[in-house]
Amino acid sequence: MSNIIDDFGDPDRSRTSRALNRIAHLLPRAATVVFGALIANDLAGGEVMPTWLAMPLVFAYIVILYTALFHNSLARICLRCMQDGPADAPVRAQRRRFLLWIFHHSLRTALAWAVLFGAGVAARAVLHQPGLVQLDVPALLVAFASVWSGWTHHRLRPWCPFCRRWDDGQGPRERVPDPDPAGVKQPRG
Ligand SMILES: [Zn+2]
Ligand SMILES: [Zn+2]
Repeated sequence: MSNIIDDFGDPDRSRTSRALNRIAHLLPRAATVVFGALIANDLAGGEVMPTWLAMPLVFAYIVILYTALFHNSLARICLRCMQDGPADAPVRAQRRRFLLWIFHHSLRTALAWAVLFGAGVAARAVLHQPGLVQLDVPALLVAFASVWSGWTHHRLRPWCPFCRRWDDGQGPRERVPDPDPAGVKQPRG
């Protein structure tokens, strides 16, 4: 079991690990493309993207999303994520406080999504306008923010102001050093 878990976090373990790691790291781009396409499609009245294109796109996205979820939550902290960590991570964590807050309040985010999605469905029924897919855009934006918050949190976790400290706030606070932009990875011989 630990082998499978490590596969998701260490790109140098094996070919499978490398492939899984690459797939997981596609998430930010994949989410931008898929949500961008879905939102554009809905804003245009649902007539831009044919189903034959939408279905494989969403399927590929789901594979990437789940690989990234395992990468973020199951594995030990990913080497590539550490090496790619921004030099100004503490500043970024402050700037992206709202995204980090969203990650820590996933239940509220899910509730907001459900309310917005339900409101869209109800409004279409009440107005007798089944083609009014523009009403799905707010729910899509919340879903996109939720995915983005997970990825942001994984990379900025050491600087997240909402993560519980191991000692529950007792004792002296150690400063987390900024990541070294030059990286620490040594090639394997
Ligand atoms: Zn990573
Ligand atoms: Zn946190």
